[in-house]
Amino acid sequence: MISIVIPLYNEEENIQELYRRLIDVLDSMRESYEVLFIDDGSTDGSYARLLEIKKNNESIKIVKFRRNFGQTAAIHAGFDYAQGEIIATLDADLQNDPQDIPDMVKKLNDLDLDVVCGWRYQRQDKFHKKILSRFANGLRRNLTGESIHDSGCTLRVYRKESVRDLDLYGEMHRYIPALLTWRGFKVDEHKVVHHERYRGQTKYNWRRLTRGFFDLVVVAFWQRYSFRPVHIFGILGGILAAVGGIVVTYLVAEKMIFGAQLADRPLFISSILMAIMGVQFITTGILADIMVKIYYGQNGRKNYLVERVV
Ligand code: UDP
Ligand code: MG
Repeated sequence: MISIVIPLYNEEENIQELYRRLIDVLDSMRESYEVLFIDDGSTDGSYARLLEIKKNNESIKIVKFRRNFGQTAAIHAGFDYAQGEIIATLDADLQNDPQDIPDMVKKLNDLDLDVVCGWRYQRQDKFHKKILSRFANGLRRNLTGESIHDSGCTLRVYRKESVRDLDLYGEMHRYIPALLTWRGFKVDEHKVVHHERYRGQTKYNWRRLTRGFFDLVVVAFWQRYSFRPVHIFGILGGILAAVGGIVVTYLVAEKMIFGAQLADRPLFISSILMAIMGVQFITTGILADIMVKIYYGQNGRKNYLVERVV
């Protein structure tokens, strides 16, 4: 079975048309399917539209969030609820074309891959967005060492095993290919068509795009360089403690052997402070490391709240 996962936030004008085109494609594939709409806290008539199309089709599932948790959380929920062996994600605004799905599934199977990512080689977006995304893609390739062209494209086809236990938060859906590459899954890409938004407006503003950028830094450090606070604090603390300790020892030795004065020397007090600071840095690092472990050790942490599943 194939599960289609569609995150949507205030897309009432797109749902009918998307459904129509998607079902055409799914029927032609002759495979069993389910379509999961993740209603990410829509405040327009999206949910009502979803209930309408569900009336005529048993294979539709709706997961309704309590509020808007963001596209990443919605995709995450899709992974959690999907039951098919293959999962395809796509946007609700018809920028992605459902007709690409069969080819992507075929590639997944033929080449025995775990993930096939869409590559919008001819993007239909605003100029500033294309420039920004080109810059972000270059940075990502350098920071993460993962090399697909277009990680912003949410049209992707996954094998179910590959997305099990993925920890996603913030705007991290863009970095799923990088996360999976590090985990040893086989990731490849496939050129897909890209249309202009069918109706409505983009849900991404500057704030969201900046957040996505900082998440890239977090992803890169955590995953690729296995960011460990104790290492950074430890090295810094170790240097401080060592320098401070050596200077203090030298000054004390000078006093004991040559009877030099200690009280009026700023160097003495500052090196003692340095040594103490160093020790505190090291312990802070250990504490931070323990917190990080506890945080990531919690299983079943969810970054979304579900109000209803239909
Ligand atoms: N989306 C969502 N939650 C959000 C923002 C967006 O589920 O908080 C959905 C949105 O409805 C669409 C997809 O994510 O189906 C992509 O969003 P959009 O088209 O606004 O992004 P763009 O194509 O402009 O990058
Ligand atoms: Mg869009």
